[in-house]
Amino acid sequence: MSSPETLRVAVIGSGPAGIYTADALTRQNREHVAVDVLDRLPTPYGLVRYGVAPDHTKIKGVARALRTVLEHPRVRFLGGVEYGRHVGLEDLRGAYHAVVFATGAPTDRRMGVPGEDLPGSVAATDFVNWYCGHPDTEVERFLLDAEEAAVVGAGNVALDVARMLAKSADELRATDVPQPMLDVLAASKVRRINVVARRGPLHAKFTAPELRDIGELANADAVVDPAEVAIDPNGEEMLGAARAARTNLRYLKEWAERSAEGRPREVRFRFWRRPVRLNGAERVQSLTVERTVLDADGRLQGTGETEELPAGMVFRSIGYQGLPLPDLPFDEGGATVPHHEGRVVDAAGERVAGAYVAGWIKRGATGVIGTNKSDAAATVRSLLGDADLLREGGGPREHPDALLERSGAEVNGYEGWLAIDAAEAALADRLGRGDRVKLLGWDEFRRAARG
Ligand code: NAP
Repeated sequence: MSSPETLRVAVIGSGPAGIYTADALTRQNREHVAVDVLDRLPTPYGLVRYGVAPDHTKIKGVARALRTVLEHPRVRFLGGVEYGRHVGLEDLRGAYHAVVFATGAPTDRRMGVPGEDLPGSVAATDFVNWYCGHPDTEVERFLLDAEEAAVVGAGNVALDVARMLAKSADELRATDVPQPMLDVLAASKVRRINVVARRGPLHAKFTAPELRDIGELANADAVVDPAEVAIDPNGEEMLGAARAARTNLRYLKEWAERSAEGRPREVRFRFWRRPVRLNGAERVQSLTVERTVLDADGRLQGTGETEELPAGMVFRSIGYQGLPLPDLPFDEGGATVPHHEGRVVDAAGERVAGAYVAGWIKRGATGVIGTNKSDAAATVRSLLGDADLLREGGGPREHPDALLERSGAEVNGYEGWLAIDAAEAALADRLGRGDRVKLLGWDEFRRAARG
């Protein structure tokens, strides 16, 4: 890191966007760059580890490619370092030429309807964190003691939640779900999961392979009301529909035509229904939805006709959003950091020196993992294009290690992560489950990292 020619870059966040940024930096400027990837957690890979559903092992396999980036000689992983707590923007600018924020969109969006705060009404992100064994979650967070659940939203996260609720514990045994969570899933009373979409099947954000998985569940029937997917395949509505939407419609129509096969659970799709209220006293007992239509301008309208869906748990799965970062501007509307081609700019359009963004905090919570590759590469092109400017004034005043030393962070480097990785493989072995069973909680990580 010491050559005066070397451009030192800190990347905040080791999810796909952060690691693809490190990758692009080493590829686009092989000789003169040194990258530190910092993460609040002691473990890398962000949503690949704590977002992708445990049974989606093929998608999780992307971690193998991300791993090679962290093993690049010019890249270091520094876990356990939190931006805003251990290090601030000024600290980082004092130790690096540039900082790329790839902190994602860690929080949920609200439905804004009465009863949303009743016990039993939760953000899908909470449930995702739970079954993924995020160190900030607790086993007791979910009991799964209701027979009926509702998942509001028609995106891939809604499908993940529905599928995780629908699968039997036996089907999940070979996954990396922490053992205490698997025990809760094994005792789950859930029988019916209503997936509630405020618009129609052609508007759903499901990607086709993820939707298809629901129809292939061994433990649950996929149920669709023919009236809610009644679209003429040769009609006008189909003309503007994207290919994925047409494929989704084909699956849904197939399921609408077949009769339920008496599997233990049921995933029931409810289209053209928007949430208006959650009902209950001590905890949520039902979800009132209103039938919707689109007006002539394509705007969603309520019809006034309501229906009460029994639901002891309501998961709002209506998208993720970014959170403001200390010392950086924030666009409340888009829940993103404003930028111009990846360069952070303030409300007046002025650049925030040395600061860049990549991934969901840059463009919002859209796209699949691979989308972050081109997104990160575009930010890196801007950053490297600014290299002369970033080197002006003699460069950083202190070495990154000196900053980390005085930050008070309990840094878990790549070796520490490999120790956690090995402990998770050993735990899977001991329990007679798949390749990995996740450790749970900060203390378990600490113990494993120290060997
Ligand atoms: P999403 O794809 O943006 O879907 C959000 C859904 O919530 C939409 O159906 C939206 O309906 C609905 N919605 C928004 N506000 C609502 C409200 N107030 N009331 C009722 N419904 C509302 O979000 P996501 O499912 O969280 O996924 C985030 C990103 O991660 C997506 O890009 C997704 O593809 C990706 N992801 C991918 C995978 C995978 O590839 N396997 C897995 C998980 C996530 P409208 O369309 O009407 O607004």
